[in-house]
Amino acid sequence: MFRIRFHGRGGQGIKTASQILGTAGFLSGYQAQDFPLYGAERRGAPIVAFTRLANESILERGAISRPDVLLIGDETLIEDPIAAPFAGAEATTRIFINSTHDAKALKEHFHLLSLPVAVDLMELCLRHLKKGNILSTALAAAGARMLGFIDRPKLQEAIEIELEQQGFEGEVVQKNLELADEIFDAISPSSLMEREEEPLSPANLAKVEQEEGASGMPLILHPANMALRKTGNWRVNRPEIDYEHCNACWICFARCPDGAMGIGPDGKPRIDYDHCKGCLICAEECPSHAIKVVREVTSW
Ligand code: SF4
Ligand code: SF4
Repeated sequence: MFRIRFHGRGGQGIKTASQILGTAGFLSGYQAQDFPLYGAERRGAPIVAFTRLANESILERGAISRPDVLLIGDETLIEDPIAAPFAGAEATTRIFINSTHDAKALKEHFHLLSLPVAVDLMELCLRHLKKGNILSTALAAAGARMLGFIDRPKLQEAIEIELEQQGFEGEVVQKNLELADEIFDAISPSSLMEREEEPLSPANLAKVEQEEGASGMPLILHPANMALRKTGNWRVNRPEIDYEHCNACWICFARCPDGAMGIGPDGKPRIDYDHCKGCLICAEECPSHAIKVVREVTSW
């Protein structure tokens, strides 16, 4: 399997680059998988996208932590500790950097283990597309060339397919094809060794630490709320928990939009009727049907 990781910023076409490369690989006879990973998505925010290509079915999922090819669309991300584009890179990882600096200078400056491939994609994009920051075709072309097994016609076909799916046609597609051609010629193809799949074992699985559920839930009686103000006294129906059937899954507690449920000492939910507005979402959501709906009757 070949694992390719793209780094760039929101708005630079990083996701599309991974799609074009995935499609080019697919057209070349490989199984393909491509997807992006956004944070709080906005223009300029660091984003990552991934492409996997393999001769067999791709069962591996999730982010690529040890890439074979690393394509960095924005050199300014290299020193960003959050983006950390070199994370997981090894001596055998082939690295591409969009930069005005040459490969030797980049290797020295960033203390790289191997000589990267460096092309000033911004200059090429400005010349062909009149936009320096639309890197989708350019990065995909660089990736295809560095993989070494995707030929020019398959890359061109993939560019046409992906751009047409995004509503581009005619001159725009033609200019992207010319851009890809120039990058294809500018980079020497490499012959990458296919890495074996890592056997799946518990040691390879990420351990996700979680806070105790109750600490993340709002509660209407938490400080700064008005405990004395009874906001639930106009209910039509009230939810009533049948504790015989409640299995303490806390789904009702998590779903209550008013924070009108707490957890009792036995680990089961308690309804705060002074603040429950009777929306009955809890009754809808309870998988055990342990919450009955009862007509409210004013009592005094
Ligand atoms: S009826 Fe609505 S407000 Fe009341 S406990 Fe259920 S989910 Fe919360
Ligand atoms: S959703 Fe139902 S079973 Fe789960 S804690 Fe609430 S009442 Fe109990």
